[in-house]
Amino acid sequence: MSLIVQKYGGSSVADASKILSVAGRIGATKDSGKDVVAVVSAMGDTTDELIELAQTISPQPDPRELDLLLSTGELVSCTLLTMALRTLGYQAISLSGVQAGIRTDTTHGKARIHRVETERVRQELELGRLIVVAGFQGATEDLDVTTLGRGGSDTTAVALAAALGAERCEIYTDVEGIYTADPRIVPEARKMADIGYQEMLELASYGAKMHPRSIELGAAFQIPIYVASSFKETQGTLIHQKADERPMEDRIKVTGIAYDTNVAKITVRSVPDRPGIAAALFEPLAQTGTSVDTIVQNTSVDRTTDISFTVSRTDLPMALAQMETVVQEIGAGDLVSDDTLASVSVVGSGMQNTPGYASRMFRILADGAINIDMITTSEIRISCVVKEEQVAEAVRLLHRGFQLDEEP
Ligand code: ASP
Ligand code: MG
Repeated sequence: MSLIVQKYGGSSVADASKILSVAGRIGATKDSGKDVVAVVSAMGDTTDELIELAQTISPQPDPRELDLLLSTGELVSCTLLTMALRTLGYQAISLSGVQAGIRTDTTHGKARIHRVETERVRQELELGRLIVVAGFQGATEDLDVTTLGRGGSDTTAVALAAALGAERCEIYTDVEGIYTADPRIVPEARKMADIGYQEMLELASYGAKMHPRSIELGAAFQIPIYVASSFKETQGTLIHQKADERPMEDRIKVTGIAYDTNVAKITVRSVPDRPGIAAALFEPLAQTGTSVDTIVQNTSVDRTTDISFTVSRTDLPMALAQMETVVQEIGAGDLVSDDTLASVSVVGSGMQNTPGYASRMFRILADGAINIDMITTSEIRISCVVKEEQVAEAVRLLHRGFQLDEEP
């Protein structure tokens, strides 16, 4: 029997009636002749509430204890959903992450999955049961419970789909699919029928609400991921390896506009211009897992340079503290930061080698009187750092300017 992995997000299981309706959907898939492994997030804002509760006890809770605490959120939703399936007359069993064989490294709070031991899940499937797995969690070799990072249930679902050889992974959520831009900002944004993994990865890391690691896993194991509403019966978006029939060089196109408001900039002034300085600046950040996005270095006449880079706003306090030490060590000048910025990106395939995309983006922003602070490009995106207060307008202008509101 072919197998589908279905993931239901926190808002889809936020209360008892929603859990019952999700059970109905899973049951319907089973009735259509498929095996189903369902993966659930914690109900509603449970994870936030548990984190808050922990912090009222201890400002920086012990990571191992916090993980075990957070894992309870998904245990609640997966057991309740299983009870709901049973009341509907289905044979069903819930499994925690450990029971479902999710083995991870020991990085509490953002553990990475090493492997999935599938024996138990396979046994249950053979008994004809529906299986509901607690998302977002796994365990180390020592059976300490870990969590995969906020939003990590998507990654649980795709990992299970890959390990079990599922036909596809379906992600049910409170939006209807993937759009050419955030529909809350751009009312004429279009829902896409499908999108490639790489482009989705750019859109996911820039605001659309999927755990980026789940897309990477999907790409690595070629698991088609279908994203759709858990409330409506409308068609969603399929994330897959896109087979493109158009003539080669016509395939270059803009897929969507992404943005991110979790952006802060750090500038280190008067950095001595000699080999090893960039390494000295960025190594401490890498060691603490702070990822740096855009980096700009300006050479000045007096053999010193200014280096600016962006980090997520959440990482800013820690990054600044680290930079203060480094600045003293290397004898640089001032350290300044700005947390009123945002980034806006044009995402599409093959943009880097196509002249004209970057200049068109800059023209559109210029005509909208939007100042560009920093620029980065990759093979499939061009990003500009702008003032946060102008980012929504930038998204709208670019969406229109690249004609994304027109049917392709
Ligand atoms: N409940 C976890 C969170 O809120 C995991 C998830 O929702 O996927 O981050
Ligand atoms: Mg959640």
